[in-house]
Formats: sequence, C-alpha cells, structure tokens
Amino acid sequence: MSKKPLLLAAIAALATLSCKTEVPVPEIIPQPEEITVNEGVFKIAGAPVVIGEGIPEAAVKAINDFSAQVELVSGKKTKEGAPAVSYVLNDNLGAEAYALNVKKDGVTVEASDFNGFFYAIQTMKQMLPPAIYGSVPAKGKWVLPCVSIMDSPRFAYRGLLLDCCRHFFPVEEVKKVINLMSIHKMNRLHWHLTEDQGWRIEIKKYPRLTEVGAWRNGTQIFRRGETDGVRYGGFYTQDELREVVAYAAERGITIIPEVDLPGHMIAALASYPELGCTGGPYEVMQYWGVHKDVLCVGKEETFTFLEDVLSEVMDIFPSEYINIGGDECPKVRWESCPLCQKRIKQLGLKDKDGFKKEHYLQNYVTARIQKFINDHGRKIIGWDEILEGDLAEGATVMSWRGTKGGIKAVGKGFDVVMSPNTYCYIDYYQTKERDKEPYRIGKYLPLEKVYGYEPMEGMPEDGEDHILGVQCNLWAEFLKTEVDLEYQLLPRMSALSEVGWIPKGTKDFDRFRASLDHMKDIYEQLGFTYCKAQWGLVGLPGHEIPARSAEELDTLDYNKVPFMEQ
Ligand SMILES: [Zn+2]
Repeated sequence: MSKKPLLLAAIAALATLSCKTEVPVPEIIPQPEEITVNEGVFKIAGAPVVIGEGIPEAAVKAINDFSAQVELVSGKKTKEGAPAVSYVLNDNLGAEAYALNVKKDGVTVEASDFNGFFYAIQTMKQMLPPAIYGSVPAKGKWVLPCVSIMDSPRFAYRGLLLDCCRHFFPVEEVKKVINLMSIHKMNRLHWHLTEDQGWRIEIKKYPRLTEVGAWRNGTQIFRRGETDGVRYGGFYTQDELREVVAYAAERGITIIPEVDLPGHMIAALASYPELGCTGGPYEVMQYWGVHKDVLCVGKEETFTFLEDVLSEVMDIFPSEYINIGGDECPKVRWESCPLCQKRIKQLGLKDKDGFKKEHYLQNYVTARIQKFINDHGRKIIGWDEILEGDLAEGATVMSWRGTKGGIKAVGKGFDVVMSPNTYCYIDYYQTKERDKEPYRIGKYLPLEKVYGYEPMEGMPEDGEDHILGVQCNLWAEFLKTEVDLEYQLLPRMSALSEVGWIPKGTKDFDRFRASLDHMKDIYEQLGFTYCKAQWGLVGLPGHEIPARSAEELDTLDYNKVPFMEQ
C-alpha cells in the first residue's frame, strides 16, 4: 500500500500554514478532527508530568498510569527539570474533546472531562511505537512528533454490541475487547446478556436462571439440521459483572446491559416455565433463529419477574440506558392464550393501522417496562421493532433492519442509535472467498462498506440531533472461540470507530487504510487475531469451512431465516 495519499495530505495541511519541510501526518485511528504537524519531536521518555488543578481523580490515575507505562517500556526514569507533559483542565472544551500541543520544549494536554484526558492519552499512545501497549522494556523512538491537535467526537454514542449468549466469553476476553474499544475512543459496550440460547447474568432472586438457563444440551452446527450434542454454557456472577463495569469505566466506557424481552426468553422459560403461555416444558435452545414461545404477558407474575430482574440489573449497571430488546417477538402464543387475550380485551386493544392487536400488546409491555425503568431514573433503548404500532415518548430506538427503522424513528422525533445490518453487522463475512473463511452467518460486509457508512443518509435534514450515534454488532451464533470473535471484530471495528468519531464528509478510505498498517501493529502487540485480507491473506488458516456446508452458502441470508424450533 502506497503512503502517497498520506504524504499528500501532510503537504496539503502544511501548505495552508507555512512552507516547512514535509513531515508525515501521524497514523491515528480515528483520525483527529484537526491536526497540524510541525517539525521536530518531543522526547517523552524521562519527561516529568505536571497535573493541573481540578482534573478529575480518575483522569489523574489514567495520566499516572500512562507516565508509568512510558517509563516501563522506554526504560528511562523521569528526569527532573526536563521538558514536561502538562495536563490542564479547560472547561471551554466540550464533552470528550481535547487539545494536544506537542512542542520540542513541552507538551500541553487540555480537556474538560475524564474522557477528554483519556482520549488525549490514546492519541499520544498511537503516535508512539506499538510497544507502548506492551509490558516489557522495548527499543524504539520514544518521542512524539510536534503536532497541534484539536479533537472531539461527531457522535456522543460510539458503540459495540457483544453477544455473550450464543457463545459465552470469559471476563478476561471481554476486558480485552474493552481495551481495544478504548484505544479507538469508543464509549458504549452494549452487552447482550440474555437469550433463547443462554441466560448469562446471575440474578439472586431467581437462581434457576443461571442454574438451568445458562446451559444448553447442544449447539447448532452450520445452517440446518444437527447439533453437536455437547453441553455448553456459562454465566457471569454479579461480582464479575461489577468488576467489568468498573474496568470499562476506567476506560471511558459505559456498559449498557440488554435484557431482551418479551421474546428471546426461552432460557428464562426453561428456568421458570410458569412464565410462558403454555407452561412448557421448555428447553434452552440449541438452534439459532426465532422461537414462537415468548413471555406470557397476560400474567402479572411475568411483570413481577421482569421488574425484579431489572432491579438487580440496574443495581449492577449504572448506565443511563437499559436495553430491553423488543426484537423478533412472534405473537402466535399470545393469539391463543386466554390470559393474553383477556389482557387485550381489558386494555381495549384492536387491530389498527395494519398491525394486529397483539402488536399493541407488545407496545403495552414496552410502555409498562419503560415506566418502571424511568421511575428508577433510567431510560430504555430497544430494537426497531418497538417502533411498530405505538411507542411512548422518551424511548430510544436502535435501528438494525437496515436504516429504515432509524429514519422512521427520527421522523417521529425519537432518538436513535444506528446499527443497520447492512453496514454494521460485523458477524457477516468480510471477504467474498467464503470457502476460505470460518463458517459465518449472514452476507458479505467488507471493510470498505463499513467505513463508507454515513448515518445521515436518508435522514430528514434536521435529523442529526436525534442520531445519538452508531454501533457495530457482533452476534456470536458461529463465534465459538476468542479467535473467532477477534477475527470478526478486526479490522472492521477500526473502520466503524471513524464513522462515529470524525466530522461528516471528512472520511477518506485511502488515508484510513494507510493508518491501518500502524493499527495492525497495535493489534499484534496486544495479541489479537484479525482478518488479514487487507494485507493479502484471505481467510483464517485452519478454520476454513468444511466442504459439506459449501452448498449452503447460497442460502445464507439472515433475513430469510425460517422460524426454528426445538
Ligand atoms: Zn399468555
């Protein structure tokens, strides 16, 4: 890959200021909003740190950690009297913004909040050799280029969904992903923790959710047919969840838990069959897809259960938003359940505007849970199905079935987070040579397409204020191991970080692609598996799909998945 576009950009940037010699623009992802490169470097190895007044305590810790890390990898102790790195509180800067001025005789870092300081540190780290992310002394040029940077995010919400239900990933792997998100200045981890195939949150009041609901007796292999028959599962204790919440907070990341309701609840029904319309018995699902058994919302016990669960969830997760799912909820059980029908009658629900009365029953569930969550000082967010029928004010919609749900929601005045499957579903294949890749769900979603996503496309002109941000979604139906997870994540998560961060109209794939060479070195330093198609190696050697399933590839279309039942 030629570095030409990058150099041209550097020359162009310099030409507007003064005629200095060419200095390459540092390779930073996401690219800072404004960056001016000047001649010379600052020797950060041995540089003392000056911490100004009023800087948040958490930021002081991050600053000291960074300073200690520089000392460790460079092997140079702080030298009193040497040019310093000064951190200054500047309340004029916006949320998460920072100003970074590197000169030969000193560095100044300004921000108004924790994330601003933390992100300035991330930018400095990306300007240093990748060994800065390591844990041993390393040879390298421990200098920062002289730059002047003003940086702030385009969107307040820059997220990643991690599905730890279809496959369970240990705390250490979740933390590893959180590290990677923080390097990319991403700030929301949408943690998918309840599903048909496994319940992953310890709930003290309902121990069977993890005794029974966290385990399944087999896992579907490929698209159709058989399961492997191997018992599989796992869950996070509340202590572990709190530990991850704190770990993420130290990296500027809020974790938004998802309790998917009233569908995708088979694991809960297997644990407490009395919460279903038929009473079961139910079994934790071994297959992917959508199940027609959902919570019986004609019963008051169901709401007691949900409120109890959500109370414990809100106690663990301080997030402003609680994701209540709301997607893929078939209404077939409600249509024939006397209690659900009684509730419909009591509420006076009728078929209306092309939606059946059972659709409005889901609206009732959403509104009732929304009120409960609002009463606890939180807000709900849910998949775009919650928009069907009536949706109460104050809900936020996550657009996943393409962009149309998001466009419609913004048109109606709702806030949205855009995670359209057409651009943001990074569980899809990333090359066309699918026989060389591990078996995956969905279609082809290359790096270029993720990078090219413009969240305002198709939106009403004044709609940008309603777009809270973007999120890439990593569903885990066919991601069995950490290697699978990381391979799907990278480098497409890097591309999405620029969609969420850099100003509208400033994306440049050639520049991003050149910067990715440096980011790849960071992946390697941190021990991540990643898709190497951009570097000429297609597929994941040793993980190719078996020949028998090649014939199934043409039927891989998530939107055409039939309802599957056990
Ligand atoms: Zn029912």
